Amino acid sequence: MIEGNVMKKFLLLLAAIAVGVTSFLSASRPSPHVENVIVQEERRPVVIIGGGIAAMTAANYLTRAGIEPVVLTGPVVGGAITLSNDVQNWPGEMAISGQTLSEKISKQALTNGAVIRAEEVVAVDFSQRPFVITTKQIIGKTHELKKYKADSCIIAMGATPNMLGVPGEQEYWTKGVYTCAVCDGGLYKDKVVSVVGGGDSSLTEVQYLSNIAKKVVWVVRRDEIRSIEKKRLQEVLARENVEVHYQTIVKEIKGNRDQVTHLVLQSQGKIKQVPVDALFLAIGFSPNTALFRDQLELDSQGYIVLKNHQETSVVGVYAMGDIADPEFKQAVSAAGDGAKAALQSQKFLSSYQVQTKAVAAVASVVIEEEVIDVTSAHQFETILKTTKGPVFVDFYSTRCGPCRTFSPLYESWAKQFNGKITFLKVNADVVSELFSTYNVRAVPTLMIFDERGEVVRKSVGFGEISEIDKRLETMKEKSHVSSQDFK
Ligand SMILES: Cc1cc2nc3c(=O)[nH]c(=O)nc-3n(C[C@H](O)[C@H](O)[C@H](O)COP(=O)(O)OP(=O)(O)OC[C@H]3O[C@@H](n4cnc5c(N)ncnc54)[C@H](O)[C@@H]3O)c2cc1C
Repeated sequence: MIEGNVMKKFLLLLAAIAVGVTSFLSASRPSPHVENVIVQEERRPVVIIGGGIAAMTAANYLTRAGIEPVVLTGPVVGGAITLSNDVQNWPGEMAISGQTLSEKISKQALTNGAVIRAEEVVAVDFSQRPFVITTKQIIGKTHELKKYKADSCIIAMGATPNMLGVPGEQEYWTKGVYTCAVCDGGLYKDKVVSVVGGGDSSLTEVQYLSNIAKKVVWVVRRDEIRSIEKKRLQEVLARENVEVHYQTIVKEIKGNRDQVTHLVLQSQGKIKQVPVDALFLAIGFSPNTALFRDQLELDSQGYIVLKNHQETSVVGVYAMGDIADPEFKQAVSAAGDGAKAALQSQKFLSSYQVQTKAVAAVASVVIEEEVIDVTSAHQFETILKTTKGPVFVDFYSTRCGPCRTFSPLYESWAKQFNGKITFLKVNADVVSELFSTYNVRAVPTLMIFDERGEVVRKSVGFGEISEIDKRLETMKEKSHVSSQDFK
């Protein structure tokens, strides 16, 4: 039951970032034929759940205090801020991309000695001490569970974007319906797109898309746009290619089966059809608290109730950032919460005289060289023509959370099958023409080519990519791998 709810949240969270609903759902749920097994137990002074600004800030504070926390990032490494390419209110930065900002904070946490793992928490038990936190791998061996025993737990799982629930939304998901302009807006250069929503996140989406698209149709339910960034709002409203429809709702999303073509809008009782090529949803959030329903006090909207400086209803458990913030949801307030939660946890640990071990030496992310980062279509075609064995190609975008989650697995394949399979990756911002050539419409997409350069298989999203992982698992000992093995 708990897991089903969490999956629903994840589904939507991922929806905000890139690839389709069904693929993630199938990847996130263990196969019905495979039993979940506990493969490992680990004792930690503090477990931090989440991989965004709040989690990484808390990790920084704890490591600097000599406490080694484990950070369980969940599916969105870097968190929600990675969706913004233009953060203008982070102290000390006139403008910075969310991706760069989150990388800087994670790098600081890693350098200070934090242990960061791409695992998803599937259950918590705060009724016993130490607390028990159960996780599973996000991709690959998803049936393998790990149990952490922790004296203190800090929660920073954020909030998930809401969906409209209108006809066409599911059918055209990733075929013109998205929740992340930064991830998918690039596909709509010089086209007509729509954004639905009347708050700050819709403003961010409209601003971004109006730099790319021919026209942005902004659908606003109320008679005003509620933004705390008045200056930015005025600047965006003044743009010639931004057309605002106030007091209007989306009734239906229509298309030609392959792609969105129209929106059915209702305004003061009148129905109208507006031609658009895509719709970006920006209609608010639901906190990711399904795991905590029986464990912590939640408010009527499902946000974690805070007692005093990030304290929850359970002593030793702290919450921070968007999951406990119905109102502001800002990167800097999430960071502030992170600092307070870490200091509170530290105080709690010392009062319980918990042993903390010295922080490990500098950790760093190793980039495997076995994966070739393609820099031109010509280079790509040459590799296809000249390579003997199968060629794997990871079509990705630097701003896509699931792509970052998939990347370590892809690199581990490359390491294991070095010499038997050629591994390439193609960045949407660098060689976008290959996306058109091979009709890649969502990321991550994995394509497998044979020795003649013909496409053998195209796998979109975690669900389909997990199938490849299973096949590779059976081929580890083989001296030769054929492209036919992946048909
Ligand atoms: C498009 C967009 C633009 C924005 N622009 C700005 C801006 O310009 N300025 C600003 O101040 N703020 C901005 N924000 C808001 C800001 O990004 C958030 O307030 C902030 O990121 C919240 O941080 P957080 O750490 O609380 O949660 P998040 O960043 O949402 O992180 C949640 C984390 O929890 C993880 N998680 C979820 N479930 C699980 C689980 N079961 N197990 C393990 N981990 C899990 C996720 O993988 C993720 O890493 C923007 C947000 C969006 C969406």
